[in-house]
Amino acid sequence: MIPYSRQVIEEDDIAAVEAVLRSDWITQGPAIARFEAAVTEYCGAQYGCAVNSATAGLHLACLAMGLQRGMRLWTSPITFVASANCARYCGASVDFVDIDPRTYCMSIESLTEKLADAEARGRLPDIIVAVDFAGQPCRWDRLAQLKARYGFGLIHDAAHSFGAEYHGKRVGSLGVADCTVFSFHPVKILTTGEGGMVVTDDPSLHEAVSMLRSHGITREPAAMERQDEGAWYYEQQALGYNYRMTDFSAALGASQLAKVDRFIAHRRKMAARYDVLLDGMEVERPWQSPDGVSSFHLYPILLKDSETRHHVFDHLRSVGIHVQVHYIPVHLQPDFMRSGFKRGDFPLAEAYYERTLSIPLHAALTDAEQDQVVEELKRALDEAG
Ligand SMILES: *Cc1c(COP(=O)(O)O)cnc(C)c1O
Repeated sequence: MIPYSRQVIEEDDIAAVEAVLRSDWITQGPAIARFEAAVTEYCGAQYGCAVNSATAGLHLACLAMGLQRGMRLWTSPITFVASANCARYCGASVDFVDIDPRTYCMSIESLTEKLADAEARGRLPDIIVAVDFAGQPCRWDRLAQLKARYGFGLIHDAAHSFGAEYHGKRVGSLGVADCTVFSFHPVKILTTGEGGMVVTDDPSLHEAVSMLRSHGITREPAAMERQDEGAWYYEQQALGYNYRMTDFSAALGASQLAKVDRFIAHRRKMAARYDVLLDGMEVERPWQSPDGVSSFHLYPILLKDSETRHHVFDHLRSVGIHVQVHYIPVHLQPDFMRSGFKRGDFPLAEAYYERTLSIPLHAALTDAEQDQVVEELKRALDEAG
C-alpha cells in the first residue's frame, strides 16, 4: 500500500521514546519543555505550549483570545473540521470565506468583501482562522492589513505548514497572527503520535494557553489569588482542560524535529518530481505562489470533472494507492448544514471539492512508488476517456 501520507519513524526516534519510558517521568515532564524550546527556536516564535492535538491547541487559542458565546469565528470551508469546531467548543458561531481558486487557501478578495459587508451590518468576526492549505502559506501580508483595519483576532492554523516560509520567514515567525497552531498527527510534517503546539509572541496569551492546558490550575506562587496555604498549595483560576502532551510524545517530537529539514526537503523534491511527471497529462497541478515556499503536506491535483475524479480515486484505491480527498467542504457536513449552511454557499470551495485528489506525498516516498502512482493515474485517465 502507498499511503497519501505517513509518519517516518527511525531507530533514533524509538531510542528517544524508550529513554523516556525508562525514566521517572512519562506524563508532562522535562522532555516537554525541551521540545517546546526546540520548536520555538526552529520556527522563530517567542513561546510554545505543547498540547495533545492541534484540535486542543485551536480550542485553547480561542479561549485565551476570549472567544465566547455570541461571538463569531470565520475560517475556510476547505480545511479539516477542527479549524471550525474550535469556535463551537467556545459557544461561538462559525462562518466561512470562500477559497482562492489558485492556492485553495481563504480568498483575500472574498474576505475583503465579506468584512466590508459585515462591518456595515455590525457583525464583524471576533476571530479568523487562516489555514495554510496543503502547506502553502496564505497571503499573510494582506491578512496583516485587514487585521489592522478591522481588529479581529487571527489564529494561524499551520497544521499543514510546519517549516513553510512566507517572504523568507518561517511559519511561526511571521509576526501577523496572535497564535499559530501546529499539528503533529502522523500524516503531518513531523509527528508525536497525537500532538500539537500553540506558539505565540504574546506572553499573556502563552500564560493563558499554558494554564488552560492543565485544568486552569497554577502552581506559580507569584500568580496566586490567595495566600499560599502550604507547599502542597495550587489554585484553579479558570475552567481548563487536560490537554497535556506526554513526555514520551515530546521526546519523539524533539527527535523528529532534528531531521525535519530532511523530511521537508524530500517532500519538496518529490512535489517537483510530480510537477515534471504530470506535465502534459490532463490534471491541474497545485499552483505555487512566489511569495512563499510550501512544506507540501499535500499534493492536491484537480481532475477534469467529478466523474473522472471518482473513477481515478476508485482505480487508485483498488491497486493499493491510498489517495484521499482534502476536504469535503466543512459547511456541507451534516452537523454544519443543520445550522443553516446550504449547497451553493461557497461555490469555489464546492467546485474544488468535486475535482480534487491528494496523491501520495511523504518523507519516505520513493521514486519507484511515485512512478507507479503516475503510471496508474495515466491508466485510470485513459480508461475514463
Ligand atoms: C490535522 C489538522 C488539524 C487537527 O490536527 P490534530 O492534531 O489531529 O488535532 C487542524 N487543522 C488542520 C488544517 C488539519 O489538517
